[in-house]
Amino acid sequence: MALNSTADKGIQTLSIHAGEDPDPTTGASAPNLVMSSTFVVDEEISFSANNLDAETPFVYTRWDNPTTQQLEHKLAVLEQAEACIAFASGMAASSAVMLAHLSQGDHLVISNTTYPGTAEFARETLTRLGVEVSPVDTTDLQAIADATRDNTRMLWLETPSNPLLRIADIRGAANIVRERNCLLVVDSTFATPIATRPLALGADLVVHSLTKYIGGHGDAMGGAVCGRQALLGPLRGEALVHYGGVISPFNAWLIMRGMATLPLRMRCHQQNALDLANFLQSHDKIERVFYPGLESHPQHDLACTQMDNFSGMLSFRCRDPKAVAQRMMQRLEVIHYAVSLGHHRSLVYLMQTEDLVASSYRLEGDELDKYRDSAGEGLFRLSVGLEDSADLIRDLQRVLP
Ligand SMILES: *Cc1c(COP(=O)(O)O)cnc(C)c1O
Repeated sequence: MALNSTADKGIQTLSIHAGEDPDPTTGASAPNLVMSSTFVVDEEISFSANNLDAETPFVYTRWDNPTTQQLEHKLAVLEQAEACIAFASGMAASSAVMLAHLSQGDHLVISNTTYPGTAEFARETLTRLGVEVSPVDTTDLQAIADATRDNTRMLWLETPSNPLLRIADIRGAANIVRERNCLLVVDSTFATPIATRPLALGADLVVHSLTKYIGGHGDAMGGAVCGRQALLGPLRGEALVHYGGVISPFNAWLIMRGMATLPLRMRCHQQNALDLANFLQSHDKIERVFYPGLESHPQHDLACTQMDNFSGMLSFRCRDPKAVAQRMMQRLEVIHYAVSLGHHRSLVYLMQTEDLVASSYRLEGDELDKYRDSAGEGLFRLSVGLEDSADLIRDLQRVLP
């Protein structure tokens, strides 16, 4: 028994069945967890990562593992990608893409507000290795076009972006870099494949932190890259085998289990986030609310065309954020004051502007003014979970001014 075709199946069916054929020897319906780090072989296999191909049997789990392969298969189907590689974390996936596809003298254009780890990796590590890096506001297609040069080899978008929930126009960006020998990479962690399929909009590679919505339960770290086999081959040999950022099969198994409910969870995340966004927007002490599903979001129209689900991430701004953060740490009952996002549990965290713009984003001039104008002294990033939204609202009422 196995899916003969994925093309005629809906996303709920695929989230459950893709990559999870019953075990051919035991008939086990649920996926096996294969923890073995090595595999008994009956032929000589080269030790070189350069000789890996689709015909290579399982040899060593840093190269490939049966449980991880099932997860990769499921992710590729959901992203409508030819192939997928899983990594130990979202950052292992992101750094692998940049290191494997950028070299000294190449130029990278990247969203100027991204996940802080990505921002620091690009600005510090890549520039140290001789890659030129131009952070730009990627909500502005003209700014992307202006920043693009002859040696631009990669355009990196994060949409929706951390923590302002800015939306980048993937199709518009793809039109700019097409025929330029430049890869378009999209970090789609906040959107998930339920909301957006970047490859169908013209992206070359999609990156996910599986630690967030895709795993969904806050108990396993992982990352993934999806795209054409020709772009992923070098990643498996170079990044997995040599940098070694391989996912634990146990984490792959947990994340695959979480994925079965991804479409259902995303529907509930979106509904709860809309409830909370509306509550916050009508609260007289809240200065700004950023949520792509609100008509007040500056790019709500673009979000409607590019996202089938507005996800569960919102951010908001109020006066005296540090005092509010203190109250959150002491008085919240349901929402955890903690970093990360995309879990069934609601999480909130203050993203302080001074810290972010100085250490991670290094914003200056107009871009700094623009960020301060939106974020003020700091934004509370709220990852709205799957609890009853009435309980979440009561929890916020306990701590808001
Ligand atoms: C969390 C996150 C990452 C990094 O993922 P890890 O699994 O924590 O390494 C990258 N991009 C975005 C948008 C994220 O939210």
